[in-house]
Amino acid sequence: MAELRGALIGCGFFAVNQMHAWRDIEGASIVAICDRGPDRLRIVGDQFGITKRYIDAAELFADESLDFVDIATTAPSHRPLVEMAARYRVPVICQKPFAPTLADAKAMVKACADAGVPLMVHENFRWQSPIQAVRAVLDSGKIGTPFFGRISFRSAHDVFSGQPYLAKGKRFIIEDLGIHSLDIARFLLGDVSTITTRTARINPDIAGEDVATMLMDHKNGATSVVDCSYATKLAVEPFPETLIEIDGSDGTIRLAQGYRLTVTGKSGTKILDVSPPLLPWASRPWHNIQESVVAIQQHWVDCLAKGTEPATSGADNLQTFALVEAAYLGAASHEPVHLDALL
Ligand code: NAD
Repeated sequence: MAELRGALIGCGFFAVNQMHAWRDIEGASIVAICDRGPDRLRIVGDQFGITKRYIDAAELFADESLDFVDIATTAPSHRPLVEMAARYRVPVICQKPFAPTLADAKAMVKACADAGVPLMVHENFRWQSPIQAVRAVLDSGKIGTPFFGRISFRSAHDVFSGQPYLAKGKRFIIEDLGIHSLDIARFLLGDVSTITTRTARINPDIAGEDVATMLMDHKNGATSVVDCSYATKLAVEPFPETLIEIDGSDGTIRLAQGYRLTVTGKSGTKILDVSPPLLPWASRPWHNIQESVVAIQQHWVDCLAKGTEPATSGADNLQTFALVEAAYLGAASHEPVHLDALL
């Protein structure tokens, strides 16, 4: 099959990982880039040797013949850019958070479905190899039927230096980081019927919440707790590890700090090191996330080749995004929120 020709829109902080990953992936390459900021366009273009550079996404779509576009801008621009891709019938990857509102997210899914254009949300955390290892244990049946889960991300890492916009939004940790944890909870325990949420702001210098605790009823009867914090000062900083506990009818799974996976089943306990590999271009502690970027982008290329729906398609991500919306509604009302009412 001929190599897929892709373009990247948005050459900011995170896009550099996506560009590195595209270089590692077989079957696709980035032929053009776009950023409304000339400095970022030059920096990323020079770093990755891309000569076709656009300030305006409309010109990119008009001039280039593309097999897909990878949108790595922040949420306010996602809907106009995804709808533009749909108009040009170009398959599209969109970074998380999918949109500023659930109504925008639904409109983007509809625009792509109506145009017959594949749409994947770059929801990469579930592609981290330690999380995939947890999923594989569940699939093996070793712990029986899961009835409880805890997905935990607690840190005091300074995320604001690399992403200053995170300090300014009225919504912070649920929309930016919790969205990944909620998606992992769905990935491991299935879709959710009800969510109850409490939030707090500990850091006085930011506008949004930096602590959130969410209790969820999964449709299959399991209960989970998703807790996240950027105000938790620990002896050993775990950023950006997600820690997981799952209890099942026949055993337990514990993914502990340091990528230590302990599985207890009927035949005893096994402890595994599920540390992610350090790719040549990656840097600690981000290597966990950087490896997942390669995995999700390879998945996209494989899905395009086979004509199958990506695991984190736009339609799938509506379920994750609805959890974000529901969490904010529930944090404000202090009431449980039913997901079906939003979807
Ligand atoms: P950033 O502000 O550093 O970069 C965004 C870039 O997009 C900027 O250079 C900006 O000029 C450009 N841009 C914005 N609107 C545009 C438009 N209409 N046309 C062309 N260019 C445009 O942001 P970032 O920190 O790189 O985050 C980008 C997205 O990636 C966010 O949605 C963020 O949540 C997400 N992100 C994801 C992960 C992950 O693990 N999946 C990690 C970090 C950030």
